[in-house]
Amino acid sequence: MNKEKEIETVTLMVRRYCCGVHWTRGEALCPACNALLEYA
Ligand SMILES: [Zn+2]
Repeated sequence: MNKEKEIETVTLMVRRYCCGVHWTRGEALCPACNALLEYA
């Protein structure tokens, strides 16, 4: 699996998780999930 696809997949997962657990709306992620993405 190439890196870009991997990042895309992780982004989608985090976005779904953030929306469900942290009640963020639309494209925005909470700071905690943004930090998680940058780490990944
Ligand atoms: Zn979040």
